[in-house]
Amino acid sequence: MKIRLLLAVAFAATLATPQAQNIPPLQAGDIILTGGQLFDSVRGTLVPNTAIVVRQGIFLEVGASLAGRETSAATLVRLADDETILPGLFDLHAHYAIDLFGEGRVDEYTINPIIFLANGVTSTFPAGEVDPEGMMAARRRIERGEQVGARIHSSGPYFGTARPGWRNSDWTPERVREEVDTWAARGARGFKAKGIQPPHLYALIDQAHKYGLPVTGHLDSGARNSVNPRDAIYMGIDRIEHFMGGDAIVAERGAYGSLEALDVTRPEVDAVIDLYLRRNVYYDATLTAYGYWYDPKDERIFTQWIDEQSFLTPHAREVANARLPRRSLEQFRRIYEVKFKELKRFHDAGGGRLITVGTDHPSWGEYLSGFSTHRELHGFVLAGIPPADALKTATINAARALRMGDELGSIEAGKLADLVVVQGNPLEDIRHTRQVRRVMVRGELHDAQQLLQSARGKLGPASPADDDWWKGDLRFR
Ligand SMILES: [Zn+2]
Repeated sequence: MKIRLLLAVAFAATLATPQAQNIPPLQAGDIILTGGQLFDSVRGTLVPNTAIVVRQGIFLEVGASLAGRETSAATLVRLADDETILPGLFDLHAHYAIDLFGEGRVDEYTINPIIFLANGVTSTFPAGEVDPEGMMAARRRIERGEQVGARIHSSGPYFGTARPGWRNSDWTPERVREEVDTWAARGARGFKAKGIQPPHLYALIDQAHKYGLPVTGHLDSGARNSVNPRDAIYMGIDRIEHFMGGDAIVAERGAYGSLEALDVTRPEVDAVIDLYLRRNVYYDATLTAYGYWYDPKDERIFTQWIDEQSFLTPHAREVANARLPRRSLEQFRRIYEVKFKELKRFHDAGGGRLITVGTDHPSWGEYLSGFSTHRELHGFVLAGIPPADALKTATINAARALRMGDELGSIEAGKLADLVVVQGNPLEDIRHTRQVRRVMVRGELHDAQQLLQSARGKLGPASPADDDWWKGDLRFR
């Protein structure tokens, strides 16, 4: 990456000289995007797009001038005035898991990567994988160009009782460290703890940091040897999923029991917010996940602008609908309402730069993870977060949270060429992020409609003969 960055800098330097002959000619394979508006995710502003030049998977020039230059060798893509270019979107809690039968989750990594991509989600962190070997194999196929899909920034397996078969008594801190070594060597880009005890979490964080890898956690109140996010922050954790923790989440009961009745104006909440700000800990609020788990759903957010079940096989659609609607979780309805207020308070206290998008919508077959980023962004804006800040959560904030802010998260010369073209202006109406027209990942430009079409009717078992594989693992529900 450093070398690529140097090349781009050296190239930019040649552009600065007035002699036109010093401008290297555009080459076959280059892609030039002109027109439309460009969202600058660092400043949070829209600027007119003069030209973006992409070469070999890298943004070579941004804000380029094509005047007097020979462009005929390159592929020229002209955008309409009402189109907006955003950096490729992230989902840092991107479940590939699907649970069609209510008998456990399976990671689906053939069709889901296409659906993420078609939604403009170019970067996914699965936040705990049920089938980490299979996920890694899919990631490698995508990297080699054998399969179309979003980037998979592997999380590896869960650390904690969320991992099928995990028993605390089997795990010493030393074994946790060895497991980190193994998955760091395989290419994990971070780790996820869920259902973890303090000594294991400390070992996980300490060992991951030796590789420069961030750790996130779905933690608890501190009850029954769990870890409160506050204590994880003191251990050095980089990110937190779901809820902020602190002294308002008391160890006498599980976290959800406190969360459902939380008054976010309490001083304990401000104290923990302050801790996040001082320690630069990212907060993956998974706001809409709570809305996802109860029925009837918040109809502002849980609309379908595309029939998401159309991506299931006809048989899978039958199977899924035989179980729906799911049982309502009243506690999650209350938590959902608290989350809106909590997130707004965190944002207004100065936490905007630390909020990231994570959807956490493992599918039961009615909504699919790939579409959920748009729901989460919409939820942020309904919570009172300005649209520009909401877009940062899915771009530059998320890239930095993954410690990849030098490579991804904004459209700047030298960075990896991931972007999405939407119709409309998401700063005026955040729901315009749903209107994906084109998406670029690794410098390859795709038509969103074609991607969706290629995935239709393919997710899930094709016939009852395939059901067994899709029934997953009862230990993970
Ligand atoms: Zn999750």
